[in-house]
Order: sequence, then structure tokens, then C-alpha cells
Amino acid sequence: MKKSDSRSQHSLLIVGETIDGQLSAGTKSLGQQALDLAGRLNCRAVAVLLGDRIGEAADQWSRTTGLPVIALENGQCRYPNPHLAASGLESLIKAHAPSAICFPHAMRACQAAATLARRLDAPCITAVESIEKNAETIVLKRSIHGGRLCATLAAERLPVVLTVMPGLFSGSTAAHPAASPSVEIRTLKSRDDRYIPRSMELSVHADQALEKARVVVAGGRGLGEAEAVGALEGVTEIFKNAAVGGSRGACDLGWLPHSRQIGETGRTVSPALYLACGISGAPQHLAGMRDSQTIVAINTDKTAAILRQAHYAVIEDLRTFLPLLVERYQRKMTKGETHEDR
Ligand SMILES: Cc1cc2nc3c(=O)[nH]c(=O)nc-3n(C[C@H](O)[C@H](O)[C@H](O)COP(=O)(O)OP(=O)(O)OC[C@H]3O[C@@H](n4cnc5c(N)ncnc54)[C@H](O)[C@@H]3O)c2cc1C
Repeated sequence: MKKSDSRSQHSLLIVGETIDGQLSAGTKSLGQQALDLAGRLNCRAVAVLLGDRIGEAADQWSRTTGLPVIALENGQCRYPNPHLAASGLESLIKAHAPSAICFPHAMRACQAAATLARRLDAPCITAVESIEKNAETIVLKRSIHGGRLCATLAAERLPVVLTVMPGLFSGSTAAHPAASPSVEIRTLKSRDDRYIPRSMELSVHADQALEKARVVVAGGRGLGEAEAVGALEGVTEIFKNAAVGGSRGACDLGWLPHSRQIGETGRTVSPALYLACGISGAPQHLAGMRDSQTIVAINTDKTAAILRQAHYAVIEDLRTFLPLLVERYQRKMTKGETHEDR
């Protein structure tokens, strides 16, 4: 630890956001990881939630995570307001002297993290996948070059501002038993008139099929060609409520519309069954499907990263396996098994 705050830095600040009084998905996920993160840093976690009239959301977050939550309320924070969040956090940071300030790795939270780091003149590391403390400092890992390389970074100065990838830490509440749920509501007095987020709604054309599906059949670059999307559609017909999704690799090639992209910069899904067909399992893809109940990966490469995430692996060419799967299903159907059994 080359330069650090002179006070003892034994806390971790977990920062959550709300959208019109509700916890954002990233905030829920970060909350579940908070005690594990605090355990790894051997410090106490304190959570801060920003929004307008967020007593209920703060109570829910505290109960479900076991964290003490400070709710900072301000009318200008009804929708995520990165500038105001950064300025509102400064006094809390002075009071708690945290070693790290963690935001969820989501677009608006990244903006708030970067703004805060600039105000504090602190290092900012985004998309963090692993965090450890050694005798000297905090050591972090993140993917670079689309998941092809893994970088290890040491925070040379504390506090460090981080954005944390969803679902990577265990969520174990046993990691730091000293934490206990409680809520303290404070009024955030600051104003920021540069801009005020006024509303946030689902776009009228938003395609919700992926989020609603119980089964997601997702294809990646391993499909090899646009026509292979037909094989994914064939598999969706086996199930009662299934939808086709894809990796960014497949969407960038124009094989699937970007509205079907799953991952960090696409949709987040948590279906009962996720079939990953020809997808390597880059961290940015995993960020959007890691919480699926059962993951089946179909891949020709038995070292593909997706297999570490999958509950079942099929090491096979998808062009062989998918038609076989559909054929077996059709054979069973002709023997009298009903669609309702799927
Ligand atoms: C800032 C940023 C944001 C990103 N956001 C996202 C995001 O939201 N979602 C996302 O998916 N990616 C995202 N990416 C891209 C991501 O890093 C990967 O590049 C991308 O996910 C790779 O797509 P893929 O798995 O389809 O392709 P590849 O990595 O090329 O993998 C193809 C896989 O198919 C297998 N395969 C090949 N042929 C066959 C076959 N015949 N049968 C079976 N298996 C086969 C291969 O073994 C390989 O594992 C992002 C990257 C960055 C930098």
C-alpha cells in the first residue's frame, strides 16, 4: 500500500442504485456478493443506497443481504443520477474511510464510479472479476481484449473505486458474521442542476421474449453461419416457452438482432434452462446468463470457459447435436409423450 489514508481502513462501501424506488438488478446482485467481498478484504461492509423515497427498497436490500444500509434520499435521484451520487458519497467516504468503494458493473453505475474516482483522485477499476487482499494492498483481476486475456492489477492507492461483475462471488453471508441488517435514512442535501434524469421506461418496442422465456437457446460464433439460427429455432419448438438468444459475436455478425444479445451489454436472463450453443463463455457473456438455473453447453472445445459454468457439457459439433436432439424429441412425441411434459 504505497499511499493510503492515515485512518484505519476497515470498511468496504457498497453503493446501490434505485429506479423509481425499486432496487436495480445490478444492485440486488452486488448486495448478494457484498459479504463475500468484505470477507475477502477482511473488513466490514456498509451499504449505501441512493434514490427518492427508498425506505422500503432499503429495508428489502438490508433484509436480503444482511447489510447495514444508509439510504440517501434526494428528489433528484428518483432515477440514477451519477453526478449527484458521486457528490453525495463524498462525506460518507470521509466518515468511513473505506479501502474500496464498490458499484455494480452497469452503465450508470460505471459513470458514477468514474465521477467519484475523479473527485477523490482515486484509482478506478471496472468490470472486476476477482478481489483479494495481500499484506500490501488489494489485488484485482479483470478480463481484457474481449475475454482473451486476464489482467491482474494492484491498487497502489486506497481507497480504490471498483465496479464488480455480477454473480462472481459466493453470496455467502457467513463470510463476515459481524454484519447485521439495519436501515438509516438520511436526506442528501446536495443539488446538481447540470442535468436531472426525469424518467426511465421500457421502450415501447422492447422485445421481452428473452426475459420471459423459461428456456433460452443461445447461439454464438460456433454456429458458423446465419442459416444455423434455424437449428436453434427448431430446438425452441421442443419447449413450451422458449426463445432464441445469442452472444455478441453472433449478433455482431448479423446472425441475430442485437435485441437478442445476452451479456454485459445486452440482456440479462435467468431461465430454468440455458442452452449455450457454440459460445465460448467470455465474462461479458456470462454476466448476462450466469444466474440461469441449469446451463447446458454444446461446444466442440472441451477447454471452453463456458464449460466451467455449465451444469452439463456436450462436447460435440452443434450441427450434429441439435438436429439429433430435435429428432429424438419428435420420435418421443410420436410415441405419445405430450408437449406439456417438457
Ligand atoms: C465491453 C465489452 C462488452 C461485451 N459485451 C458482450 C455481451 O454483452 N455479450 C456477449 O456475448 N459478448 C460480449 N462481448 C464480447 C465477448 O468478449 C466475446 O467476444 C463474445 O462473447 C464471443 O462470442 P462467442 O462466444 O459467440 O464467440 P467465440 O469466442 O468465437 O466462441 C465460439 C465458440 O464456439 C465453439 N464452436 C466452434 N464451432 C463449433 C461447432 N461447430 N459446434 C459447437 N461449438 C463450436 C468454439 O469452440 C468456441 O468456444 C463484449 C466485449 C466487450 C469488450
